[in-house]
Amino acid sequence: MNVNWEETFLNTYGTPELTLVRGHGSRVWDVTGREYIDLLGGIAVNILGAAHPNYVQAVSDQVGKLVHTSNLYINEPSVKLANKLQELVGWTGAKVFFCNSGAEANEAALKLSRLTGKTQVVVVEGSFHGRTMGSLSLTAQPAKQKPFEPLLNDVTVVAINDLEALKMAITSATAAVFLEVIQGEAGVRSLSSEFIRSAREWTSEVGALLIIDEVQTGIGRTGAWWAHTESGVTPDAITVAKSLAGGLPIGALITGGEASKLFTPGSHGSTFGGNPVSCAAAISVIDVIEQEGLLSRATTLGQEFKDSLVNRSHGIVTQVRGRGLLLAAEIYIGGESDPAPKFVIKALEHGLLLNAVTPTAVRLAPALTIADAEMEQALLRWELTCNYFSEVPS
Ligand code: PLP
Repeated sequence: MNVNWEETFLNTYGTPELTLVRGHGSRVWDVTGREYIDLLGGIAVNILGAAHPNYVQAVSDQVGKLVHTSNLYINEPSVKLANKLQELVGWTGAKVFFCNSGAEANEAALKLSRLTGKTQVVVVEGSFHGRTMGSLSLTAQPAKQKPFEPLLNDVTVVAINDLEALKMAITSATAAVFLEVIQGEAGVRSLSSEFIRSAREWTSEVGALLIIDEVQTGIGRTGAWWAHTESGVTPDAITVAKSLAGGLPIGALITGGEASKLFTPGSHGSTFGGNPVSCAAAISVIDVIEQEGLLSRATTLGQEFKDSLVNRSHGIVTQVRGRGLLLAAEIYIGGESDPAPKFVIKALEHGLLLNAVTPTAVRLAPALTIADAEMEQALLRWELTCNYFSEVPS
């Protein structure tokens, strides 16, 4: 197939390097038949890798039965998935709204927060909550926001882990605080547990919602179903997407307690939300994670990756941060101001898919199912890439 990207697509992504045609586990193949090990997983989406047999079966069965119903009728997979998610959060009065992406889940959460009767929202500098106009208003990255201003104006940005700024920002006018426990798009930067707990305490004091964006961290990515449980807080709502349906489009807003009572019929909706195929896929993702013990595997492999990415880097990697299988490696190549994109291009030549999440950091979000042999092969290719740069005179 002759791909003329620039003549075909709007100019939102730049021209990709590869055309991928198939995958198996953590390996993918391009159109020329070349094999790669995928350590990025469709940007933290393909949590079971490619073509897991249970997933293939579940999705194929559902496609053969019923693909779409609209929200005028109940479909069984959506109920089953919602019940699973209620169980996984374990909150009293948990309720679920399904949509199709992370941005949409945050739009729903933002609209929910307006039903508190207040409008001010607090977010953390560097946050990424999506690119629709509402979610972009919450994405505290000026370069992404500027061309689209004016956005929603009642958004206060506080510096990461700045308790004093957070305390000042949360007032009786606050409708909600949106947090990512680990800011994936900002370079895998963690909020401190103290910051998250303080946000819980202070939002409760003023009757504001604490909404945690688990779009990138949820569904086992960090070694627990949800990243926020480590800090011991119970938020009013979480948003989920990416890994939930293992590669099919889905998003969800999950609320608890009083927040579950705010929407009423007509408040919000989505034609495809709760699509039976995406929901059947998500049920299969959750089942496989449970059956194969993938939460603890994510924790174990995360630690192994953390150690090996540094130890096998010939001095190129100065730090690896993150939790479970959401990691970022800081790359140092003498004299280079943006070493990460160069590293990613070289790694691709060695058959490894990665992403330069910042100019200096490379992100890894491999499948929780990555096999030992795939991981060893990936680390070998990592080492070869590092070796190349360690031998380049600075
Ligand atoms: N929230 C977080 C934390 C994300 O990482 C992303 C995407 O990277 C989004 C929201 C937006 O999700 P989507 O691209 O599915 O709209």
